[in-house]
Amino acid sequence: DINKIKRFDTNTSPYNPEYVLDKLKGELNNLIVNQYPDTSYLDIREKLVKYTSLKKENMVITCGADECLDIISKTFISDKDKAIISTPTYSYFRIVTEIMGGQIINIDRKNDFSDDIEKIIKITLEENVKIIFLCNPNNPTGNNVEKNDVIKLLNKVNCTVVVDEAYDEFAKNTFSKLIDKYKNLIIVRTFSKAFSLAGVRVGYILANENTINLLNKIRPPNSLSKISLFLAESILENLEIVEKWINEIITEKNRCEEILKRNNIRTYKTNTNFILMEFEKNKSQNIHKKLLNKGLVLRDLSSIERLKNCLRFTIGLKDDNNQVIEEIVKLNNY
Ligand code: PMP
Repeated sequence: DINKIKRFDTNTSPYNPEYVLDKLKGELNNLIVNQYPDTSYLDIREKLVKYTSLKKENMVITCGADECLDIISKTFISDKDKAIISTPTYSYFRIVTEIMGGQIINIDRKNDFSDDIEKIIKITLEENVKIIFLCNPNNPTGNNVEKNDVIKLLNKVNCTVVVDEAYDEFAKNTFSKLIDKYKNLIIVRTFSKAFSLAGVRVGYILANENTINLLNKIRPPNSLSKISLFLAESILENLEIVEKWINEIITEKNRCEEILKRNNIRTYKTNTNFILMEFEKNKSQNIHKKLLNKGLVLRDLSSIERLKNCLRFTIGLKDDNNQVIEEIVKLNNY
């Protein structure tokens, strides 16, 4: 029964934002949908000025963070250009690079999953690297990029440095203040995670004004709908409720971590809304399959060598989390 499936594999929010949907109902009669949206998306940028403390000239609004990555790669990557990825990380960095004919240089993370910044710097300088992708905090490992590391990197390299901050609302470790000083830094954000709007598809890029002008030449002029913009702007007018959701998710995450640890399941420290769990050899795929049979979908990471015994679990509502953890503990002890 498809309606009984519960998904814990997409790192989205368990809260459907009723309040902004109600607001949309009231707005429907006023929407003029036979005309295009304002292609500069000025209203939402003005609201983001308050949220980010940056200027509206430092922003490009996009159809989700994935479109940010797509526009960035189209702007900065040409055939045979080299791109560094701190691996394992979000798979779309590789995909947008390869679509543009770029070549991936994977730099393995250290044992604690932190970025190997010294090596990234060394290879960037030796190999004439065009672009570096970092993820702060990283999906699927959950750890932050260290601020000192990113500053060290930006002081040494001239190439484009992209930092994907899709989960920053949970980590509160943003590098957005650095875009004034470092013209080659580009930050990627989304409304899909803490803001509960994954189905609405809104993201944004933060960067130096010159970079923004380049990106604006490449981006599609009308990839956002008036309805998406309305919902995203409504969320920005209600940040107290977002903050409440974030706090609830973090409280739940800490509680879940505790229970898992108590039951001898290894979890990695995470600054996101998901937990990376590691099981004893050859157990995780079986646990994943048994959970699927019960309609509980987690992310199986066994195709990644470093994470071959790992599952990723997105924090949901308390009762659902309890159900998943109870099953996991049972299967792990079996
Ligand atoms: N970046 C990272 C690190 C992600 O985990 C995700 C979502 N899985 C995205 C970007 C894409 O988000 P969006 O829904 O905004 O396209």
